[in-house]
Amino acid sequence: MLNHFKRAVVLCCLFLCLPLSAQFITVTEKQYQSGGYLIVQAAPRSTVEFLGHSYTLDAKGYLVIGLSRGVSGKKQIAITSPSGDVERSTVHIASRQYKVQRVNGVPPSRVTPPKEVAKRIEAEAAQVREARAKVSDYDFWRTDAFQWPIDGQVTGVYGSERFYNGVASGSPHWGIDLAADQGEPVYAPAGGKIVLAEDDLYYSGGTIILDHGAGVSSAFLHLSSVDIKVGQLVKKGERIAAVGSTGRSTGPHLDWRMNVRDVRVDAALWIKE
Ligand SMILES: [Zn+2]
Repeated sequence: MLNHFKRAVVLCCLFLCLPLSAQFITVTEKQYQSGGYLIVQAAPRSTVEFLGHSYTLDAKGYLVIGLSRGVSGKKQIAITSPSGDVERSTVHIASRQYKVQRVNGVPPSRVTPPKEVAKRIEAEAAQVREARAKVSDYDFWRTDAFQWPIDGQVTGVYGSERFYNGVASGSPHWGIDLAADQGEPVYAPAGGKIVLAEDDLYYSGGTIILDHGAGVSSAFLHLSSVDIKVGQLVKKGERIAAVGSTGRSTGPHLDWRMNVRDVRVDAALWIKE
């Protein structure tokens, strides 16, 4: 992404004679789709209007916006520089088809939870939301080339509709599932700060949330062991956990999810190496 952006800057300077502070949107084809993201680079502290939301670029002039599962088509974006210049353009977000997946053999209590765990589930969901809500200044999301957290066969993808034991789950599957052996190490796909590290959440079992900065976060689910603590800064490729089958799971696998602020995006679209 960064190289792409540098190239764009060089091209602008060489051929269009635009000053370095020229505003433009940079995004690669691959991420320009439902579940993807777009990155804006412009004068620091510029504001952006997109899909009814307003954002402010960081001190280095960057902003990343998540594109949700259902968003597609031509959308207007307006960038206003601190001096008041407005640049408008259209982004075309490709639509996607999502799979339907049936998962059987799930322990019934994890599909239709007993009443007495309702409070626990609610409290855990709030804890996860709070962990993800922090928008930090870390640059890992754009300076690290994301890599797979484990080497495993893909058994579930972003956006699919799921039926557990024949019952519609009510929300799409947000992660990418990677089959692996119990206990296999899980490595940080990019650097970040650990903002949640729990051994046993009701649905997701052993769970880690890693903040890559600017609202971009990864979550790792169903872990058999959580090997780091909240507040710890980890490097790309550092071991953080071990694969397991805790929570709503039918066998050892890693469910890796990504968010951009409160928008769930497709983790597979972040992989660079
Ligand atoms: Zn999953």
